[in-house]
Amino acid sequence: MKNFLGSIQELEVGNLDDELFLETSYEIEDRSTVLNGAEPENILFAKKVVCSVCEFEFGNIIQKTKKAKLVDIDADLRPIYDVIDSVAYDLISCPKCGYTSSLSMFNKIREKEKNRYLENTEGKYVQPEEEIEEEIDVDVEVDVDVEVDVEVEEEKKQEKKLAYTYKEAIDRYKLAIYSNYAKGGTSGERAFYFMKLAWLYRSLERRSEEYFLLDQAYEGFLIAFNEESFPIMGNDEPTFKLVLGEISRRLNRIDDSKRWIGSLLTDRSINERVRKRAEDIKEILMVDVKKKK
Ligand SMILES: [Zn+2]
Repeated sequence: MKNFLGSIQELEVGNLDDELFLETSYEIEDRSTVLNGAEPENILFAKKVVCSVCEFEFGNIIQKTKKAKLVDIDADLRPIYDVIDSVAYDLISCPKCGYTSSLSMFNKIREKEKNRYLENTEGKYVQPEEEIEEEIDVDVEVDVDVEVDVEVEEEKKQEKKLAYTYKEAIDRYKLAIYSNYAKGGTSGERAFYFMKLAWLYRSLERRSEEYFLLDQAYEGFLIAFNEESFPIMGNDEPTFKLVLGEISRRLNRIDDSKRWIGSLLTDRSINERVRKRAEDIKEILMVDVKKKK
């Protein structure tokens, strides 16, 4: 996937010239997002999608339901599965025009946004290079070892086609962020991509990138909270406040975090699940406050 972002980066968008956003450290991020030796074909499959911007038909890799076990959820609602980093598979990305968005938003692009996207990206998006299919001459008298090698190579190719590396997953989220700017999308949608990109870096234990992106997400969520109506990206107001409460706590914005969590815990209408999570965050928050003193 060379030139994945291509020169779409020339788009004048936000303040994304920060090297924490632009630079990718390829050594670490070449790791697969399929974990613990699981077979990609057991968990993933390519689903045919027609691009809602350019009508190109392509296979988008998505996670099979019920094939991975949810083992934990971070306080900001990042899901942790046993055999896959599912966050990497929450997007649809068109290889032809570059339009990328979440599974649920991909078909919801409005006519005005579509036109704006095409106008803003015209001549700027470079398609990923076609994988060069090497012709393999298998002679009749080929020896057994060579045949095995060919099989292994073939398997590797298949595996690569299904499972994303972290590098590819990260590039897809960056493309989603650029696509959102290019179509004039909402802050709320964009902030979710920033947050999920931060989660991918959390998986890689790359803290500077994670916090830089969480901060971008938080700023976007604040705008969304004041300007957009709920549900925002499928989240109701209490869930949204819960996420904001935990992100601000992680960013050491203790007063903000207290305010979000406080407003949840004084709200009698919230459900038990959200209340329990808010109480958990409050407990960690108290420890944070004590540490600060
Ligand atoms: Zn397209």
